[in-house]
Amino acid sequence: MKKKIILAITIILCLLVVVYIIKKRRGSQVQKQTRFVMDTYCTIQIPGKKEVIPFIEKSFQRVEEIDKKFNVLNQESPLFNFNQKNETIVDKEICDLVSIALQVSKDSDGSFDITVYPLLKLWGFYSGNYTVPEKERIGESLTMVGYENVVTRDDTLLKIDDNIALDLGGIAKGYALKEAVKELKKAGVSSALVDLGGDLYALGTHNGKPWKVGIRNPRGEGVIGVLEVSDICVVTSGDYERFFEKDGIKYHHIINPITGYPARDMASVTVICKDAVKADAWSTALFVMEPDKALSTAEEIPYLEALVVTSKGKVLFSSGLKDDMELSNVETGDDT
Ligand code: ADP
Ligand code: MG
Repeated sequence: MKKKIILAITIILCLLVVVYIIKKRRGSQVQKQTRFVMDTYCTIQIPGKKEVIPFIEKSFQRVEEIDKKFNVLNQESPLFNFNQKNETIVDKEICDLVSIALQVSKDSDGSFDITVYPLLKLWGFYSGNYTVPEKERIGESLTMVGYENVVTRDDTLLKIDDNIALDLGGIAKGYALKEAVKELKKAGVSSALVDLGGDLYALGTHNGKPWKVGIRNPRGEGVIGVLEVSDICVVTSGDYERFFEKDGIKYHHIINPITGYPARDMASVTVICKDAVKADAWSTALFVMEPDKALSTAEEIPYLEALVVTSKGKVLFSSGLKDDMELSNVETGDDT
């Protein structure tokens, strides 16, 4: 009798262990897809079983749609015709995004400027025929740059100066990120990590804990820090994303609209903010500024935090970040 009871208890215990293992495995199952879109590798992951895959696909469809519409190099996009043929655009979605971009331009004293198109073209970033332009040519292109020459009125986008051309590369990915997350939420997804080439949104939690997001070391392997985040985005602009080298000097794709040359002071700028569109625009805007100005600007804006790695390797971050950051192997700058 006693033996039978022991055997029964052992069997029950074994069954419980098996059930526990199965449950744990199911809980840690994650569905993940990577696609090349928005000119970069994008990954969407959702914890759960195969049933969540259609949600990932729907979310990617929206990113692809935005990529087509907002890519100024796509000959079928309204922005292409706006740039090349001076065609006016009547489109609420485009005007809304451009309006936000223009507001960030004003608030950043022109560090962010979607009219940098002629400069990006001159440096060869569209054709891939990279070149360090002569000063004179840069001066000529600078006369065509100025966000004040773009106006949105009644869902219509107008040029004040015919030479104006737009490049939404500094903000469109943020919009795609926002819309990708919107699609997931619409489908009832409450936990996901959306990564559009380093522009991330952490939706909800993962296994009951905040998502852990590493901040890439712009000057080497690995990460310089880890953030624990939930329902917020972490967006980085870096000088390592797109660049060419000439005579030992690195020239990257974030251009200072005042000088016409790639911004010199930063290696990377990470912005943490609930709104993906603003996060994307501000990461580019702060990248163009001098580090102290970038930090004081980040402190002034109530809805964002920033972490900055200067080109000299100093790490600076805004006051709201101090408590929830783990930094590793970094030289931190003065208290800010
Ligand atoms: P990434 O797209 O590599 O993540 P960013 O968000 O910083 O990096 O965007 C860089 C892109 O923004 C450039 O490729 C170009 O299209 C555009 N851009 C470059 N300089 C500026 C600027 N000063 N203001 C607005 N957009 C810019
Ligand atoms: Mg940006």
